[in-house]
Amino acid sequence: PRYVYRFGGGVSDGGKGDKNLLGGKGANLAEMASIGLPVPPGFTISTEMCVRYYDEGEQFPQSLRDEVAAGLTHIERITGKTFGDAADPLLVSVRSGARASMPGMMDTVLNLGLNDETVEGLATVSEDPRFAWDSYRRFIQMYSDVVLELDHGAFEEALEIAKEDRGYTLDTQLSAEDWQALVKEYKAIVLDQWKKPFPQDVHEQLWGAVGAVFGSWQSERAKVYRRLNDIPAAWGTAVNVQAMVFGNMGDTSATGVAFTRDPSKGDRAYYGEFLINAQGEDVVAGIRTPQYLTLAAREAAGARAASMEEAMPEVYAELAKVFDLLETHYRDMQDIEFTVERGHLWMLQTRAGKRTAKAALKIAVDMAAEGLISEEEAVDRVDPAALDQLLHPTLDPAAPRDVIAKGLPASPGAASGMVVFDADTAEKRSEQGESVILVRVETSPEDIHGMHAAKGILTARGGMTSHAAVVARGMGRPCVSGVGTLNIDAKAKVMKVGGREVREGDILTIDGSTGEVMLGEVPTVQPELSGDFAALMVWADKVRRLKVRTNAETPNDCRTAREFGAEGIGLCRTEHMFFDAARITAVRQMILAEDEAGRRKALALLLPEQRSDFAEIFEIMAGLPVTIRLLDPPLHEFLPHAEEEFVEVAKATGLSLEALKRRSTELHEFNPMLGHRGCRLGVTYPEIYEMQARAIFEAAVDVAERTGAAPIPEVMVPLVGTARELELMKAVIDKAAAAVFADKGRTVEYLVGTMIEVPRAAIKAGEIAEYGEFFSFGTNDLTQMTLGVSRDDASRFLSVYVDQGIYAKDPFVSLDVEGVGELIALAAERGRAARPDIKLGICGEHGGDPASIAFCEKTGLDYVSASPYRVPIARLAAAQAAL
Ligand code: PEP
Ligand code: MG
Repeated sequence: PRYVYRFGGGVSDGGKGDKNLLGGKGANLAEMASIGLPVPPGFTISTEMCVRYYDEGEQFPQSLRDEVAAGLTHIERITGKTFGDAADPLLVSVRSGARASMPGMMDTVLNLGLNDETVEGLATVSEDPRFAWDSYRRFIQMYSDVVLELDHGAFEEALEIAKEDRGYTLDTQLSAEDWQALVKEYKAIVLDQWKKPFPQDVHEQLWGAVGAVFGSWQSERAKVYRRLNDIPAAWGTAVNVQAMVFGNMGDTSATGVAFTRDPSKGDRAYYGEFLINAQGEDVVAGIRTPQYLTLAAREAAGARAASMEEAMPEVYAELAKVFDLLETHYRDMQDIEFTVERGHLWMLQTRAGKRTAKAALKIAVDMAAEGLISEEEAVDRVDPAALDQLLHPTLDPAAPRDVIAKGLPASPGAASGMVVFDADTAEKRSEQGESVILVRVETSPEDIHGMHAAKGILTARGGMTSHAAVVARGMGRPCVSGVGTLNIDAKAKVMKVGGREVREGDILTIDGSTGEVMLGEVPTVQPELSGDFAALMVWADKVRRLKVRTNAETPNDCRTAREFGAEGIGLCRTEHMFFDAARITAVRQMILAEDEAGRRKALALLLPEQRSDFAEIFEIMAGLPVTIRLLDPPLHEFLPHAEEEFVEVAKATGLSLEALKRRSTELHEFNPMLGHRGCRLGVTYPEIYEMQARAIFEAAVDVAERTGAAPIPEVMVPLVGTARELELMKAVIDKAAAAVFADKGRTVEYLVGTMIEVPRAAIKAGEIAEYGEFFSFGTNDLTQMTLGVSRDDASRFLSVYVDQGIYAKDPFVSLDVEGVGELIALAAERGRAARPDIKLGICGEHGGDPASIAFCEKTGLDYVSASPYRVPIARLAAAQAAL
């Protein structure tokens, strides 16, 4: 097999379609080269090689060595330089590039090919010895860190001491001789730590770097990133070896990163940062504060340092042309890296830019309006899960705020929480249920787990394209970066800002949309659901087949869900109404009653309450289907605990305290989830379901009479496992309906159906469908019972199961399509065979999960039901599933 693919100088062995093979970076370098953009020549070692490298015990086959030699010859031919040539050496960069972009997660080595001889050659041909020696010391430092895995602190210390000795404050003050002296020291550090001299053989350098890049695929931080982003370990990474171009050859050289549109707000304006006389990673690393790309951005920020548009107008104009060309070519917003070497522009990378949910939405809608993409493509472009960011509250503009600092609005959204100064504490506190704001001088890939655990991220250094900003936007975490006035002492767990002291545990609020940092918690308001959001939803609804309902039982939730576009209620859990403080005594009275008469007395108290609950919901959901589930949870959940609660029930029932306590002990269960719950309550105490059915039908008739808009109640029986259970319960419900209709002299349409949440019910769905007019898959219980994993205890071990690849994702979040999914498909098929017009839906948590929704579409269900805030996510996911 072939492992090396060339690009540049009129050659392109691949293109943008080859991401799986060449990784994103390699495929796009080949693509840019093939459309005539200035790309330094190079070659890509494929991801297949990475897989083979790990399969064969981290060895390279001889065939790869031959192919790499040919790849080097390609670069040498185009550049006219020779690798290892003492007079005019070719230098290369070695970078990783996986299929999915993993910003900052893996290793890079620059300036490779320098040694004690070639550095002299570089000094001569560049006519700039200072540049040559600076490049050499950077190379030694990077190579020692990435490939030799030596302690990088020693190198930084040596540089600091060199500056101090000479009375310098900036790196730029060091002369060629200074750098040369430092190179000597660096080499001594290598000898001391590595016990061998720094490698002088350029080929040894190259293979060391290639191995290190492959090795970084299995680094801890890469593993964490993959887990968070569902990237399979089996993909591997590619390695890109490319001729170096230099942004640090003086004031006509520069390096930068840019987005073709604003990645934060989505505006159609070039957006980026650059640094004059700097190399590669300086911009993203957040070490020097970069300058703006455009004049407009500089003016908007009130910054002084000249923009690229002003400082290098010709190159800027050329760059702007490239931006337009790339955006039209890829038909998407691009994230671009470039270098200017002595006035000559070079493109180093392009990829679809990461963006906030807000920007994703705006860009998709704008591009459809511009005619660049279709409406359907626009629908497909927005990640449904990312909508979450937009649907959540922002800071109340009217609320007072104690602003103590301002930084860059790096990732939008507002967050409040306690301050922590390191990633591990962030993770620990968040596991304990606290909201935390992670505060760092700057973030690095090692902080990724803490950033994920935090509600918001605040940094003292770094621009809009710094690691913190890029990663936070990708994760949807609010982030304020580059707050220069923060004086952080992470060891002492304290920071000073604006004359105040903030300690670990103090509450801060950050607003990632304005860059404001506030002391204390600031109240929030609901977002507006108009503009781009509404436009995209209209397009989504055009292509969607699945209906989207909501799981709700309070009037508030019902209203929110309707505003979000819910087309009915898929699950109204009536037990939530029983927990109401005003009713709990009557509920307890019912449970603790010793006979049917006692229960009926208590139920009579609950009937009017239930009736008014249902009437309110029916009015809000006028004309839409409302699925009401009869009482489900284990009785013991309602039992009194405190002495005064027993006293209260004793008073209400006239029973003795002693009798009540005895009865309460009798009700204790060892496995409540498998105990006396669901329709088992209805089978043993039919009067409970009878009362609930009465309340439903009385409310429905009342509302029909009062408003003229008859609701469509769908009465749902939980936890059915056998047809006979449903047969019995349906008889109770139908009898109640007939009684109410006779009594009121008016009927309403209604359905009786069941949840499918016990595996036996899925298997016997054909028989159950004889009595059930609809099925709603209760995938919370169905998952629990199919996997034999307790939904309440799973979190203790499930993450290990996911890490070990036993389940690809938490099966309580994303449906186990292979197992539970097969039961659903089976039940759907058998149910339909018995009753062709049976209505099928899902009401477990999975009803709001995009991957599970895709499964529901494939299986041909009629609707999904999700919690109110997930309704728009479900609408979009259902549309994407239908495309
Ligand atoms: C289910 O089991 O999926 C369901 C929706 O019911 P509950 O979560 O109330 O048990
Ligand atoms: Mg259930």
